[in-house]
Amino acid sequence: MREVEIGALPLRRFAEVLPSERVLALEAAADAARRLLAGRIVWNVNSTAHGGGVAEILQTLLAYGRGAGVDTRWAVLAGDGSFFATTKRLHHLLHGAPGDGAALTEADHAHYERVLANNLDGWVDRVSPGDVVLLHDPQTAGMVEALRGRGARVVWRCHIGTDRTNAHTDRGWSFLRPYVEGADAWVFSRAAYVPPWLPAERVHVIAPSLDPFSAKNAPITPGDARAALDLAGIVADGASEGLGYTRRDGTRGAVRPHSDLLLDEHGPLPSDASVVLQVSRWDRLKDMAGVLTGFAGTIDLFPDDAHLLLVGPDTAGVSDDPEGAEVLAECRELRAALPRAARDRVHLCCLPMDDVDENAHLVNALQRHADLVVQKSLVEGFGLTVTEPMWKGRAVLASAVGGIVDQIEDDVSGVLLEDPTDVDRFGVLAAGLLADDGRRDRLGAGAHARVLDRFLGDRHLIDYGELFASLLARTG
Ligand code: UDP
Repeated sequence: MREVEIGALPLRRFAEVLPSERVLALEAAADAARRLLAGRIVWNVNSTAHGGGVAEILQTLLAYGRGAGVDTRWAVLAGDGSFFATTKRLHHLLHGAPGDGAALTEADHAHYERVLANNLDGWVDRVSPGDVVLLHDPQTAGMVEALRGRGARVVWRCHIGTDRTNAHTDRGWSFLRPYVEGADAWVFSRAAYVPPWLPAERVHVIAPSLDPFSAKNAPITPGDARAALDLAGIVADGASEGLGYTRRDGTRGAVRPHSDLLLDEHGPLPSDASVVLQVSRWDRLKDMAGVLTGFAGTIDLFPDDAHLLLVGPDTAGVSDDPEGAEVLAECRELRAALPRAARDRVHLCCLPMDDVDENAHLVNALQRHADLVVQKSLVEGFGLTVTEPMWKGRAVLASAVGGIVDQIEDDVSGVLLEDPTDVDRFGVLAAGLLADDGRRDRLGAGAHARVLDRFLGDRHLIDYGELFASLLARTG
């Protein structure tokens, strides 16, 4: 187990984007939480410090926790290939998908428990009776019992799920149920994801949020976005330097020059291209391949200057996601097989993960530079890659699955693709949006308002305050 350093972020920053009554409500919640949690540590445990939505949320939310005066800590577990193959399988199963189709065996249970026991060894002594431990996702579920044995109040938070259960979700839950059942409370992103065997009065529904001030979401001008993408070798702009960005620790960062992020024979996209963008981990359920096929299959409907940009992390950089390299290789093969005219307008891009702040700034620049952002996931627990461009006022076209239907109201704050497997419909909708500037502007404004209303950190922190209050009222 490795502890991740968390700086403290001041809650008063929220005054820059929120009306004063919301800032006051947040400050009142922070005061109550500080009193309630005095003398206790709030631990968070997950499986990666960067890459994916959970790490993204923890990076800033925990820093606000510290800023509120709550002793908040973050520990990241270590696992080997076979541990992460099991947890990736569980991830797919809880999403209702078969994943690699392999069985979950007694040996998998034993190995899963062994890896978690090794992680607890030497770290669990840092947890005191009365501390609160938030365990995130299937990777951590097997720690519930040991931490409760230590006298901690244990919450298991599940960031994934599907509205419809099936044989796959049943298999996933039958592996996890013995571990998670012993927790004191549970958190899910949507009510529909809560398994019926959990006691409803101890379950909390808390949607994720984004941080409007992070390098991922802070305001940058279109010119700065282009300059960053030019330096990164993604969009040709002729800019010689970008204005940089603020890192999480408050220092300034600059984009390093890159030349190998696009897996392309052509080099950067033209600066005047209309860009359709999907940013995702290289995970089959994000369906990068379907986006590619849908765009290429309907390319004649798009304006001549339209290009598709599929962006994900460097596959060596996300340690808990063993499937990434395979999915990227499949996309490369699909692209290589396209007719020349379509291939020249389809681009795959891998962002370096060795500098998380640079990565965040590049995602920010990409989401702002894009004319249309898409998220054609086959299932989605929530989808920060939808919330992020919405906050930036971009028009988003996304599948009507999971948490995305809580985020986008169709034709008001984005456009929903009813059947996420319908690649032709996807192409028709995307092409129609790209051709209609007025509609994109209207949807972008609706999108920003929706995120401001529901998906910023103040709401998330207040939800956590309520969770801690009810947890400690019950358990002492
Ligand atoms: N992300 C990133 N770099 C990448 C790809 C993704 O920083 O190359 C981020 C993305 O901006 C978002 C998170 O990873 O903040 C993905 O979260 P989401 O909830 O969309 O999906 P998850 O990966 O958790 O399934």
